[in-house]
Amino acid sequence: MALVLDGLTKRFGPITALDGISFRVERGSVFGFLGANGAGKTTTMRIILDILRPDSGTATWDGTPTTDVPRRTWGYLPEERGLYPRLEVLEQLVFFASLYAIPRREAAARARDWLARFRISDYEKRRAEELSKGNQQKVQLIAAILHQPEVVIMDEPFVGLDPVNVSLLKEAFEEMRSRGTTLVFSTHQMEMVEELCEAVAIIDHGRLVLGGPIRDVKRSSGRQVVRLAVEGDMALPWLADLDGVSVRRPGQDFVELDVDARHDPREVLTAAIAHGERVTQFLIADPSIEQIFIDRVGRPPSDDHHLATVAADAGGTGAPGSAGGGTGVEPTGNPG
Ligand code: ATP
Repeated sequence: MALVLDGLTKRFGPITALDGISFRVERGSVFGFLGANGAGKTTTMRIILDILRPDSGTATWDGTPTTDVPRRTWGYLPEERGLYPRLEVLEQLVFFASLYAIPRREAAARARDWLARFRISDYEKRRAEELSKGNQQKVQLIAAILHQPEVVIMDEPFVGLDPVNVSLLKEAFEEMRSRGTTLVFSTHQMEMVEELCEAVAIIDHGRLVLGGPIRDVKRSSGRQVVRLAVEGDMALPWLADLDGVSVRRPGQDFVELDVDARHDPREVLTAAIAHGERVTQFLIADPSIEQIFIDRVGRPPSDDHHLATVAADAGGTGAPGSAGGGTGVEPTGNPG
């Protein structure tokens, strides 16, 4: 029971947006899709949703090609946010639900429930254009999930939300997860992934760099991180003589060390004591997803230089055309 992508390739003229992407999202899991701007995240999502067709490769949901899966299986929060600006919030939500044959009363009840969770009940009679961007984004997410899809695919759902709304969205994730919904979201905010996801795929220039359950990704990174603090001088010159250990981040309060997988991190503690240090902190941790991303991709996920390069490569904005309707539900579409 899974969403399985196998060897997806997609070219746009001279640009290879996807170059053999394969990964698997287990049903009922929360899956993070990581990559810098232009990595190919949106293209992958559009292929899953059958908005785009790949040049080669397949996408299946529980063994059925996603092109043959009923449209109501999916909920989609697209990259291009957009609601009908002049339509009142509740009317808008009822309309989108009607595309999936959800009766008005039922749709309104579900919509009100979600509006309350997102603390925007007071806006149900406001026109969408009167709402702040963050509130519009929440309405749009509700539009994407009102028909209770099995899989919700979200393109950068946390971008542009203030901390209060970020935590409301995380609660919504928990709620959907507890109902067994599969959640896939793209992001370049690594802390979201650490906090929310069971598994990840990291892509770069259309290629899968790393993927799988977070724990496996961390273990397979071949890296262990040690945090060490001692009383007095933190220069610790003896560290330079330790095999397989390098200083990742020196500091006044503690140093952070990389220990390669062939060494036991406890060797650091033994060496510290042997050198007469009075150890006040010793912690062994997995590397963060951000560190792994930087190791494998060679730069942080939100590197602005890369963003500029990609925009130039793509001849300007790099923004593909809208997927229609702004919510991923085309008013003329067949709900399946
Ligand atoms: P972002 O976070 O910036 O949205 P992304 O990881 O979602 O990035 P994609 O939008 O999938 O990346 O784009 C991958 C590459 O394909 C980019 O180089 C982009 O410019 C290009 N691309 C995507 N869609 C089109 C299109 N319709 N026509 C031409 N090039 C496209």
